[in-house]
Amino acid sequence: MPTISHNLKQIHAQIRAAEQTYHRVENSVQLLAVSKTKPASSIVSAYQAGQRHFGENYVQEALNKQLELRAFDITWHFIGAIQSNKTKVLAANFDWIHCVDSLKIAQRLSSQRPNSLPPLNICVQVNISDESSKSGVTLDKLADLVLQISELPNLKLRGVMAIPAPQNDFSAQREPYRKLVAGVNDLKNENLTTFSFGMSDDLEAAIAEGSTLVRIGTALFGARF
Ligand SMILES: *Cc1c(COP(=O)(O)O)cnc(C)c1O
Repeated sequence: MPTISHNLKQIHAQIRAAEQTYHRVENSVQLLAVSKTKPASSIVSAYQAGQRHFGENYVQEALNKQLELRAFDITWHFIGAIQSNKTKVLAANFDWIHCVDSLKIAQRLSSQRPNSLPPLNICVQVNISDESSKSGVTLDKLADLVLQISELPNLKLRGVMAIPAPQNDFSAQREPYRKLVAGVNDLKNENLTTFSFGMSDDLEAAIAEGSTLVRIGTALFGARF
């Protein structure tokens, strides 16, 4: 069975190759290791191979791992759906929150971010393949939400994230990302520098279209059961 450190090397090689193929700046695409459902020991394996940014989807599972791994210098990203009764624990325990799609959630995260911590890094989730999912703002509402979030004192708006409907065809995978990047560029907002998109099955399409942060679970840690 391939080890996590072997997989990590492969993924880095894949990212660097895609950067070259699609004329992206070298090292402009970072890796977020998605460790949901995987044990803390898997995170340690990736950590020992140099990985520092980890993404989790489920609050309680994440808190358990954070407690177990508190001696490690990990940057924790929350990439799951956000329930408003969980904003307080999210604001206190994560460095980044990726799926913000309403002003109400953003306001709660800002007001609940402990003053002892730096501003919470935020990506706004954009819904770019509308039929399949109810989460995320549509592109036409992005400008307003971005401006409103920019004014919240304890948040640092970093960029956008997206989870398009799965596609097998390469050009079909690229299509929603192209629309997203064009829509974000139209806003001319210099805070929006993180493009959080691309997963194990569409990493190359995501990099071709401008991803700066690919969120990889399966290809790194193996299938989830
Ligand atoms: C699970 C998950 C990923 C990782 O998906 P893989 O296909 O396992 O790479 C990325 N982003 C989000 C939001 C996820 O929930």
